[in-house]
Amino acid sequence: MGNETWCLMRELFFPLACPICGRPLVTGREARFGICSDCERLFPLEDVGPGERCEVCGCPLISEIGVCTRCRKGEHSFDKAAVLYPYTQKWMTLLRAYKFRGHRALAPFFTEKILEGRALFFDRAVFGELTFVPVPPREGKIKTVGWDQVESITRVLEKQNAVCRCLRRLPSMTQKKLNAEERAKNLKGRIICTKKPPENVLLFDDVYTTGATLEVCSSALKEAGATRVYGLCLFHA
Ligand SMILES: [Zn+2]
Ligand SMILES: [Zn+2]
Repeated sequence: MGNETWCLMRELFFPLACPICGRPLVTGREARFGICSDCERLFPLEDVGPGERCEVCGCPLISEIGVCTRCRKGEHSFDKAAVLYPYTQKWMTLLRAYKFRGHRALAPFFTEKILEGRALFFDRAVFGELTFVPVPPREGKIKTVGWDQVESITRVLEKQNAVCRCLRRLPSMTQKKLNAEERAKNLKGRIICTKKPPENVLLFDDVYTTGATLEVCSSALKEAGATRVYGLCLFHA
């Protein structure tokens, strides 16, 4: 039995439960988005959308004005970035369910949020048509782990949107235990552009931590000829 058939069978006999409240997903929409309709309403973008935001990375400002302290320290080659949710509380539960607890059915839900985020922060009338470019997974990750959380979103996204997988990550140390400066150093030159990038790019990733990954991707894209590079991340640490 092929892997796909097995997945379909498994979903038929063991329907997924909502990652937030645990109740079975019953309607077509619930099954499609991997979350129940009551809990889906807990994640509107408006809650965390506009308001006082850093002009560079899009993270909420606390007592700063205009640009956050993190962005003031380093230069950015991307033109503007936006982040959607904080990586705390229910939002953290949601991402952890997707990444670590097998709720891969949430990929279409996150894709929907990325599309809403593009409409909210990168209005077509102002920014024009942008081509999505995913932040690439660690080299060999899909082979060893079997999937990648950003790649799964990319697959849903590319069904109806322009997507270009033009970035590749070369082997480097894992980023988890490194601080901002070490991350930037560790990643520098480790993400390369493998073909001509789109002119106007909307880079996307799951979590914005120090901005180092977005920065390295963006400078690779610009060196390879991209005119404008914007960033959109689902969560900010
Ligand atoms: Zn629920
Ligand atoms: Zn910032």
